[in-house]
Amino acid sequence: MLTLKNQNLRLPTKQIKFTHVLGAQLLADKLYAFMKENNGLGLAANQVGLRDSVFVMEVDGVRYDVFNPEFLLHDLHPILVNGSEGCLSYPGEAVDVVRYDSIHVRYYNADGNVIENDLHGLTARVYQHELDHLHGITMHDRKKMQEAKARRDIKDAENAAIKANNSVTVEMGVKDD
Ligand SMILES: [Zn+2]
Repeated sequence: MLTLKNQNLRLPTKQIKFTHVLGAQLLADKLYAFMKENNGLGLAANQVGLRDSVFVMEVDGVRYDVFNPEFLLHDLHPILVNGSEGCLSYPGEAVDVVRYDSIHVRYYNADGNVIENDLHGLTARVYQHELDHLHGITMHDRKKMQEAKARRDIKDAENAAIKANNSVTVEMGVKDD
């Protein structure tokens, strides 16, 4: 019987070695059943106190059992989208998080086979949310990181503008001579 536990939420999970792990499907089935009971779109192992790199998700009726996941981006300038997210670990809370709209994912299924796939929209969003969990990052952490980066970007832009203004002044000074 699984229960939500928050003490491992900020610890990264460990990669599963399929040669040593039996019952990967059983584990995924347990996570999936718990996720469905709680009306979630996804559930990561460390949300229920486990330390394995595995999550399950279901979007538009398609179920994914995802072990040792990673993702790549196709584009040099990937499209980012802002969207509201909830989390079984934070009942009733919703935060706006920016995610990649399209990702190329690579993970192992429960049989230990490598799966590669392109995910888009909500499916891509849920995958990124769950993968963050496995790295010990919650949606709240992600939002804070994004806000901090936005503040840095604004400061950089301001500094660049000040520099640009200074250089214009210098050039004008040269012209005046
Ligand atoms: Zn979550």
